Amino acid sequence: MTAQIIDGKKIAQNIREQIKTEVAKMSVKPGLAVVLVGADPASQVYVNSKEKACQEIGFYSEVHRLPETTTEVELLALIDKLNQDPKINGFLVQLPLPEHINEEKVILAVDPAKDVDCFHPVNTGKLFNGIAAGILPCTPAGCIELIKSTGVALSEKDAVVVGRSNIVGKPATMLLLQNNCTVTVCHSRTKDLAAKVRQADIVVAAVGKVGLITGDMIKPGAIVIDVGTNRVNGKLTGDVDFNSAKEIAGFITPVPGGVGPMTIAMLMQNTLNAFLKK
Ligand code: NDP
Repeated sequence: MTAQIIDGKKIAQNIREQIKTEVAKMSVKPGLAVVLVGADPASQVYVNSKEKACQEIGFYSEVHRLPETTTEVELLALIDKLNQDPKINGFLVQLPLPEHINEEKVILAVDPAKDVDCFHPVNTGKLFNGIAAGILPCTPAGCIELIKSTGVALSEKDAVVVGRSNIVGKPATMLLLQNNCTVTVCHSRTKDLAAKVRQADIVVAAVGKVGLITGDMIKPGAIVIDVGTNRVNGKLTGDVDFNSAKEIAGFITPVPGGVGPMTIAMLMQNTLNAFLKK
């Protein structure tokens, strides 16, 4: 059996079209600002994609490209300005930041109501406590949409999340729990990763290691969501060995064209929700 490919690009496009239709009816447009400090090449690509998505949807958008030498005080002053700016409903500071800037301080400085990346502890706390909020963590929320797109019910499923970062692994775990999955979280100290993954009806791989998850680790028919974004000889590749896994899985996301476009679609959704104060 060969797995059905989950087309993240198409699903993300549909979400963007829906938002675009809604925005077209508005006289005042939702506003998103993106702040980039320095010239990290991957961050530049992400920021450009976010800017492009805003233009396509019809959001008001601002991109603040600041030099590597920007001080923490200067960055915090810009955050304060964006917090006050009524044209801006949501904004994010692209990570990673240069070493001389304290990431935690920056995350805490963002007004939780405008924190469309869902990194502020007020928003992650709401997620942890199961309090409904219009802002959801973008990449994990995208993973849930992709899983739901298969038509398979999440309730009662065994899910394994590989990775426990604050940006992907932990929030993905909370969202899967909210959807009534039984969740196992694996990380670099997990004993016998293969045995854990083999039990999973749903696998979310968010590690950053090329081909860590191989076909022999997949339960036949499982849904495999590959968050990994690794560059090999200039080509993007995931954490899942796609060729062996697709022979065993029921559904699988490709890299590129799986989770990546969904992250941006969810960012747009969060901005719309922040505008509507959902
Ligand atoms: P982090 O580096 O913050 O976290 C990686 C996690 O993987 C850690 O929890 C680590 O464990 C775990 N890990 C490392 N080695 C192993 C191993 N051998 N077995 C099991 N677990 C292991 O990465 P992120 O969560 O930020 O990102 C993960 C991947 O997802 C990256 O490739 C990133 O580029 C990609 N990504 C893609 C996005 C998209 O939109 N498509 C968005 C965000 C990220 P420990 O905690 O013990 O160190």
